[in-house]
Amino acid sequence: MEIIQPKEGETLDIELEESLLAKNKQLAEGNRVVLDKNGIIAIDIMGSIGSGKTSLIQNLLKQLKDKYKIGVIAGDLTTEIDAERLEEGSTQIVQVHTGKECHLDANLIKRALETVNLAAIDILFIENVGNLICPAEFPLGAHKRLVVISVTEGPYMVIKHPFIFREATIVAINKVDLKEHMGVSTAKLKEDVLKMNPKAKVVETNCVTGEGIKEIIQCMNFQ
Ligand code: MG
Ligand code: ZN
Repeated sequence: MEIIQPKEGETLDIELEESLLAKNKQLAEGNRVVLDKNGIIAIDIMGSIGSGKTSLIQNLLKQLKDKYKIGVIAGDLTTEIDAERLEEGSTQIVQVHTGKECHLDANLIKRALETVNLAAIDILFIENVGNLICPAEFPLGAHKRLVVISVTEGPYMVIKHPFIFREATIVAINKVDLKEHMGVSTAKLKEDVLKMNPKAKVVETNCVTGEGIKEIIQCMNFQ
């Protein structure tokens, strides 16, 4: 089989892209300084559309809201659906519309942080745009990056997206109650993650029953 791929330096606009990523990284470092100054731990939550990012955050809010003041930044192309679902349990919520952009970037997070009363929150959850590709290249300044995949996405989700799994601190394998129906092995998905990123913490979750949520919270070092 013939395989064609761009040669070094051949991709269009490569210089533009490199300076864009460098600028993003610099802004992400600035965001981290602001978060640290305010004693906020931020978690960037990434995953495909329909993997269960919002449901997972709802579960986290439910378990953590009595102990912590929690801010949420919800990224989406044009809707407020997720932000509305996350109002309960969060003390401040910001909706970021990315329009045609398929990921959040550090500049959007910088602007979102400017609208939040940072002194009044302890934890910040950032729901990234549903996408497993480019969010990997755009760190936001968060302390941890959580990737949500669900068994309904099939058996090849992990091996087809190496970059995002290399970036992940925590991986949630969601909708585990459906694994038999889907014929997907969660053990194999976990093995695929650890092959790419031996340090990642992998947790099986079910956002309907709450299975695995406590473990996710432990992986985030919250109580
Ligand atoms: Mg969502
Ligand atoms: Zn993108």
